[in-house]
Formats: sequence, structure tokens, C-alpha cells
Amino acid sequence: MQATTQLIHSIPVDPLTGAISVPIYQTSTFVQDAPGVNKGYDYSRTNNPTRATLENLIAQLEGGQVGIAFSSGLAAIDAVAKLLRPGDEIVAVDDIYGGAYRLFTQVYQQFGVTINFVDTTDPEKVFNAITPNTKLIWLETPTNPTLKISDIEAIAQIAKANRCLLCVDNTFASPALQQPLLLGADIVVHSATKYLGGHSDLIAGLVVTKEKELGDKLKFYQNACGAILAPFDSWLVIRGIETLHLRVQQHCRSAQEVAEFLQQHPAVDKVYYPGLKDHPNHAIAKKQSKGFGGIVSFTLKQDNAAAATAFVTNTQLFKLAESLGGIKSLVSHSASMTHKTIPAEKRRAAGVTDSLIRLSIGLEDVSDLLQDLQQALEKTNTIVKTTANEAVPC
Ligand SMILES: *Cc1c(COP(=O)(O)O)cnc(C)c1O
Repeated sequence: MQATTQLIHSIPVDPLTGAISVPIYQTSTFVQDAPGVNKGYDYSRTNNPTRATLENLIAQLEGGQVGIAFSSGLAAIDAVAKLLRPGDEIVAVDDIYGGAYRLFTQVYQQFGVTINFVDTTDPEKVFNAITPNTKLIWLETPTNPTLKISDIEAIAQIAKANRCLLCVDNTFASPALQQPLLLGADIVVHSATKYLGGHSDLIAGLVVTKEKELGDKLKFYQNACGAILAPFDSWLVIRGIETLHLRVQQHCRSAQEVAEFLQQHPAVDKVYYPGLKDHPNHAIAKKQSKGFGGIVSFTLKQDNAAAATAFVTNTQLFKLAESLGGIKSLVSHSASMTHKTIPAEKRRAAGVTDSLIRLSIGLEDVSDLLQDLQQALEKTNTIVKTTANEAVPC
């Protein structure tokens, strides 16, 4: 059976009523026949049937044993970080998601955990960064916003040889394109806020483990710390996942067209998209994933914040907003939005120059998206030229 068919039919029909849509068990507690004698559920923080359906679904999608749903992507990352003890070290991808950077450096560092950031596109650099205290390797691939790709299989081998865990933040690819556990990773985390939810209408996080034992440890933290996903939001993520494969295919197709359009445009300098043959990690992206994703980043020939601001305020279909992975196309200016807390020098060195713009390609017809980009680029050129002329002292 093909993955899509299997996915759609693995969402169970309600055994009680035959409801074809998963019921939302909006309840805090469950009545017991005698103390400790129940129907498998006692309290919704510990377990809830709607959430359990989502947890089983994501475990299956990622090819893992245990799925666990949290109230946000960061709560999911936080649960994984709780596996660490004072003195332990993390080796992490250098252009890590800003929220994960803040969590590791401003929360876990206080508890005695050390974080070592490296360019994980080179597995040798990962290998060289490992010390006897390294317990966790943290990857994001593709990264945000320059879409660098790391070789999951090669780094999984390094993790195994050095007895540390490999966790992959699979938010940008989604399991429709990439299944890190099948490439040797131990843990996958998701911000389900993005492609899994898919409609920009909720905040949610998921963790999947390859082994049951590790999953049980994380499930303990889910219940002990309490950052669970509510029944209704669990239902929304299930509903999003039902169309994941279809949506992601279209996101990828349109993103490839947008990337190729931008590449030939005279106002555009660099285009970052793993599906372009000249992307430095194109080969490994092709090897480990079924598609190149729905995010495209680019810089302008006029590499300054004024030009970028003119562009992001002149698109019409592309809405100016943080986040990604929904049906509506979004545009963001990394230097002043997602990456504003990173010092300018460090940010620029990572390729996030002053004009870098990130697009989340939605499900609109791609011809309309190209037209919107064309008109915004034209306007940017005129606006920036006029301001430059006005600035000349007379
Ligand atoms: C958005 C995001 C997160 C954080 O998820 P929230 O749901 O916003 O808490 C983590 N990792 C990546 C790659 C993200 O894009």
C-alpha cells in the first residue's frame, strides 16, 4: 500500500459510534469502575484519546515507536533537553532555530549544560566537536533561513560510535519528505505549528523516538511537567496531517518554480533553495529526502534593509508574518524579524545579510505568486532609487 493510502486509513474510525472523524474528547477526567480500574484513561494530562490518536499517527509517519504531543514546538524541544544532566554537552547545528538557541543558551546553560555550535553540513566538524561529555547532537535540516542540509545518516553513525543521541528537528522537511529515524536518528522533533498543522491556525509540538524506552522517558516528562497538547488542537493537527502529502507536494512544486524565477531576476542576488542544482548541498538533499520543501530564501542586489523592507511591504499575496508552512504564502525579513536578537556580525557571517528575505510558498496558483514577486521587485527598485536620489544633497 502506498504511504498516502496507509496514512489516511490508519486514522481509526471511532469504535464506539462509527464516527469517521476522530472524536474530540474534551474532558479532564474519566470515570473509574473501582480505584485504578478504568478503560485505559484516568486524567487528560496523562493521556487523552484524541491526543493518543495523534501521537500514534506521528509515530507511524516518522517510523518510530513512541509519539508524544506538546503544547508547542519549543515545549517538545524542552522535553528532549530534559534528558541532559549538569556537565553534559550538546553539539548543535550553527544556524539553529532562534527559539532553540534561546532555550539552550539562556535556560539550560544555567543548569550546567554546555552547547557547542558547529557547521553540521560537514560531518567531520561534528566528529571533531565531540568530547566524552557530549550526550546529544542537535540537527536541523534544512536550516532556517539559508536552507543548509546536513547528512543525517553520516552524523547518525558518528552519534552511535560516540554513544550520544541524535535528535533531528524535522519541521522544515516534514515526514512527507524526510524520515530521520529511518536514517539512524534517535529522536525527531516537530513544530507541528508549521507543515503538520498546515493551516496557520495553531501552536503545537511533537516528539517521536525510535526506541520505546527513550519514548517512555520523554512521556514521563510530558506528564510530570505538563506541557501537553489540548484535545481540540490535537484534532486540528490530525486534520492537517490528513492532507500533508498532497500539500507538501504542491509546496515543493511551486517553491522550485519560484526559486528558478528568482534566480534569473536581475534585482536578485543569491537564491537559497536545496532543489537548485547549484545549491552546495543539493546532492545530499536529493539523497535523503523526497523533495526540497516549500521555503525559498533570497537576497537582493541592493543588499540593505531599506530595499528588503520595501520588498516585504509591497507584496500582496505574500503576507508579511513570522512562521511558515501554511496554505497562505508568507514573506519575512530575517534580519529584523526572526534573527533580530543575533548580533549583526554573527548574523551576516551565517549568510543572513541585511536584504535576506524568506518566503514560505503557500498553495495559491504559482502563476499568481510569480506575478506578485515580479511587481514587488519592480516597486522595490523604483522606491529605493527614488530615495537614493532624494538623499543626494543639492
Ligand atoms: C517554529 C519552529 C520551532 C518552534 O516551534 P513553536 O511551535 O513555535 O514552539 C522549532 N523549530 C523550528 C525549525 C521551527 O521552525
